[in-house]
Amino acid sequence: AKQLGKNNYQLYSFTRDITSYKKYVLEKDMRKAIEKEEFEIYYQPQVATSTGVIKGAEALIRWNHEEWGMVSPGEFIPLAEENHLIHQIGDWVIENVCKQIRIWKDKGYTVRPISINVSPIRLMKKGLVEFVADLLNKYDVPAKFLELEITEGSLLKSEKNVLNTLDGLRELGVKIAIDDFGTGFASLTYLREFNADTIKIDQVFVQNINEENKKDTAIISSVLHLAKGMDMKVIAEGVEEYEQLNFLKQKECDEIQGYLFSKPVSLDIFEQMLETGYIK
Ligand code: C2E
Ligand code: CA
Ligand code: CA
Ligand code: CA
Repeated sequence: AKQLGKNNYQLYSFTRDITSYKKYVLEKDMRKAIEKEEFEIYYQPQVATSTGVIKGAEALIRWNHEEWGMVSPGEFIPLAEENHLIHQIGDWVIENVCKQIRIWKDKGYTVRPISINVSPIRLMKKGLVEFVADLLNKYDVPAKFLELEITEGSLLKSEKNVLNTLDGLRELGVKIAIDDFGTGFASLTYLREFNADTIKIDQVFVQNINEENKKDTAIISSVLHLAKGMDMKVIAEGVEEYEQLNFLKQKECDEIQGYLFSKPVSLDIFEQMLETGYIK
């Protein structure tokens, strides 16, 4: 009876701690994942709202873990931010994308700018500008093909380092996008101060586009109006339905990104899209 009690306890404890166990395993394995080439970059096209032509893509990391299968970045990026491996992982993504752009140019594709997510932690550490400059040089890639996505939240910290880094990147010719716009309470003054090229309207607003949700559509309309006045491009994220597309078309939103056109796809599939410039 004592033995059974112990097993029961272990079972209970295991179930309760499955998330922390997974967290433990992922964290341990993350250190070797780059060497083991378990990370992969998927690309999600960003298309012109009016024509459906591919104008760019967002690079989204995937981790093919030997035991757990595909692990979503929503799960491991926060861990990597906690244990600081985000620096190594983030650098790997930037280098991989630069290398890929070189390959596309050599293959003769019409290359579109690729957006890369930069963690606020990476943004605050010194040396990002030099790192990016060296890579553009190494792979002979024009800076205009890179766009760095920075969350609205990380701008709110408004550290001097962050501002200097953004200035340095802009001087290189790298584009800056404000990600998840509308979720971080950044004021309009921030938009002017950061001088971003692109605003990405967060998917929560896009998913509420319908007759009943006047408030969210009002937010989208005013962001579009404002962006136009400040010469910024607007991308709506998370577009899944025709109703949303039609609304965004009518409001003259520049580009859209979402499952309606394409999920993030592997390199092979993205290259097929690049060949024609359209999503088949
Ligand atoms: P994010 O930057 O906001 O990226 C957009 C997320 O929305 C992606 O999830 C994408 O697959 C998803 N998405 C796109 N269209 C739709 C749609 O129509 N409907 C819905 N429901 N979802 C859509 P994913 O790839 O799982 O990435 C999650 C988050 O992980 C990203 O959010 C970003 O914050 C982070 N992340 C991904 N890759 C990287 C990376 O290389 N570096 C860093 N630092 N963070 C990354
Ligand atoms: Ca993003
Ligand atoms: Ca986003
Ligand atoms: Ca997000």
